[in-house]
Amino acid sequence: MFKAVFLQKNDQGEFKASIEELSESQLPDNGDVLVEISHSTLNYKDGLAICNKSPVVRQWPMVAGIDGAGTVLESKHPRFKTGDAVILNGFGVGETHWGCLAGKAKLKGDWLIHRPAGLSAEQTMAIGTAGYTAMLCVLGLEKSGVKPEHGEILVTGATGGVGSVAIALLSKLGYTVVATSGKPEQAEFLTSLGAHEVLDRNTISAAGKPLQKERWAGVVDCVGSHTLANACAQTKYGGTVTACGLAQGMDLPSSVAPFILRGVTLKGIDSVMAPIAVREEAWARLAKDLDLNKLSKLSRVISLEDSLNVAAQIMAGSNTGRVVVKV
Ligand code: NDP
Repeated sequence: MFKAVFLQKNDQGEFKASIEELSESQLPDNGDVLVEISHSTLNYKDGLAICNKSPVVRQWPMVAGIDGAGTVLESKHPRFKTGDAVILNGFGVGETHWGCLAGKAKLKGDWLIHRPAGLSAEQTMAIGTAGYTAMLCVLGLEKSGVKPEHGEILVTGATGGVGSVAIALLSKLGYTVVATSGKPEQAEFLTSLGAHEVLDRNTISAAGKPLQKERWAGVVDCVGSHTLANACAQTKYGGTVTACGLAQGMDLPSSVAPFILRGVTLKGIDSVMAPIAVREEAWARLAKDLDLNKLSKLSRVISLEDSLNVAAQIMAGSNTGRVVVKV
């Protein structure tokens, strides 16, 4: 038996999230690798699922948890054998396939990667999908040719998981980072991660002109909506905006002006279905380029039982940094 964050809907459509004891025989049989999960995490999407805030969960009942780290107990997949240390991010786990906020998970080997050398299971979950997405954004900027000498990089939603890891990564790589945040009391924290300047997010979150004063060489945007539109409108000629999130909204009330008049690139970032080679590149770079002291500063460890309350904090926008769940 093992414990799991279990999400259920009854015939009347009433939702319930609880910690339940499950047995191995209840696990879905469409996975070819049985993993003993030691650590998981809470991402924004886990918050949505656990608080039933948007249709993240597509099958009921569901075990939550889009990320997991652990050890292979049994494998029918050629890339993995018993005892291998593995990690999982996304691929619909915790949405359409029972997830990793649980003592055990039966996963597809095609979704797993070996845990990168130099990172513990706890550290990989402190990074989680949020940190791996931050790395995908950084890779997006690099591959578009954005270099530290080109100017400032804007990071929005800065105190969140993606934003805080993005700041730590970009500053280590020599970029000058400007963060926007709705939490003025966290300015010192953001500076300690490597932000050069912290702006009130209200300065960029309202409807603005299609073209504004050019400031950013690149952008990591976690919030979407008017913030993303303004970020594009403020990006310098030839700059790149990476868009990964929707914390403010899914809309993009923008115009083509930044793209056709300033050659700005808007680069979409998806972590969920990213191919294995892209994941391996991102995780290898995380192992190399993320300052682990900063990682421990921006993350905290909670129990499986605490995850229901902390998911609600994430939904209230009051969470800071990354949350590791020790299963
Ligand atoms: P968090 O909840 O940790 O952080 C989101 C941050 O956004 C908050 O801390 C807050 O930062 C800011 N924020 C919250 N509400 C608002 C609002 N109404 N308007 C403006 N800013 C707001 O989430 P994550 O960092 O884990 O994820 C960030 C976004 O990226 C989410 O939308 C998530 O769904 C998305 N995401 C996408 C992925 C992909 O594959 N594309 C993968 C992972 C995440 P502050 O107070 O500092 O402003």
